[in-house]
Amino acid sequence: MTTVLLVAERDEQGEISQTTLQAVAAANGLTEAQVTIAFAGEAPSSAGSLAAEKVVTLSAIDASDSGIYEQATADVAAFAASMNPDVVMFNKSDFGSIVSARLAFRTDSALAADCIGISNADGAVSVTRPVYGGSALAEFEIRSTPAIVTLRAGAYEPSTETGSPSVEAADSTESVEQRAQVTDTVAEARDGVRLEDANFVVSGGRGLGGPEAFHVLTDLASVLGGAVGASRAACDAGWIDHSHQVGLTGKSVSPDVYIAVGISGASQHMAGCSSSRAIVAINKDSTSNIFKEARFGVVGDWEKILPSFIATVRELKA
Ligand SMILES: Cc1cc2nc3c(=O)[nH]c(=O)nc-3n(C[C@H](O)[C@H](O)[C@H](O)COP(=O)(O)OP(=O)(O)OC[C@H]3O[C@@H](n4cnc5c(N)ncnc54)[C@H](O)[C@@H]3O)c2cc1C
Repeated sequence: MTTVLLVAERDEQGEISQTTLQAVAAANGLTEAQVTIAFAGEAPSSAGSLAAEKVVTLSAIDASDSGIYEQATADVAAFAASMNPDVVMFNKSDFGSIVSARLAFRTDSALAADCIGISNADGAVSVTRPVYGGSALAEFEIRSTPAIVTLRAGAYEPSTETGSPSVEAADSTESVEQRAQVTDTVAEARDGVRLEDANFVVSGGRGLGGPEAFHVLTDLASVLGGAVGASRAACDAGWIDHSHQVGLTGKSVSPDVYIAVGISGASQHMAGCSSSRAIVAINKDSTSNIFKEARFGVVGDWEKILPSFIATVRELKA
């Protein structure tokens, strides 16, 4: 039997996020998994049919803790201590990355971040992680208990299994003294699907030449029902907000199709998108590294290629 504590997240509508449903699938793939899913605050009604033994509710994350997660860390740590799980699973989100690292420190456990696979068929917990900027995949065996992991978005298909878990509130923990304070929050402006949840991502780089070109990428993304990403060079130039950045110091995505336009394919960029199911590159330099990573490529100027590409996608979708 493998006991798993899965720390859930919600989407903007307050529903269970797709990335959490992906983690539910990963958790249930472990040997004789007994999965407990923890929500901060009241669980959404759909939590009552998740494929899990138990759903627990921890205290809600209030505005003063949002982004800092000191109280949330204390709540997760207290519940983990009471449950003593074999595996604690998070999404590789801001929340998951912050809380998982602190939990690993508090419990003196190993943390494997940004995993795209987890198994324990032969007893030990093993994870697969992209390394060297996504140029290789490495397998790690985690010897600590609990094994703490964060899962990359898109690494698993969302769970469609159902169950009838018990739903209960965890005992509340003491409030922690916060050492940092949120002084202001700015909501991210975004139309459509979240970058991390998108099946299609259209990303632009320095080769676009300026901010206006991102309107063309937004067009393509909206025809595909996807989201717009960017290289750090494009974000640093101020052409698009940093919340769109894909890569080592940006977001990790694993869409079905990743279209890289005017992006050279530096290892730091590929670190965030190499686990995409198919990469399509549009670049005028045939020696660019992106063509080594791409399944399909077009050598040429994006300005000449994209309009007919978008028109063809529109026709095919019509
Ligand atoms: C610690 C560290 C962390 C980093 N983290 C990240 C990260 O998270 N994400 C990230 O992206 N980068 C990151 N970087 C930066 C990374 O190393 C690269 O500098 C960056 O990815 C380059 O962005 P780019 O491909 O858009 O630009 P460039 O490397 O300048 O490439 C532009 C490409 O556009 C092509 N091009 C030019 N004109 C056209 C045209 N008209 N049509 C088609 N193609 C054209 C060119 O041939 C070229 O290949 C990091 C770097 C460091 C040191």
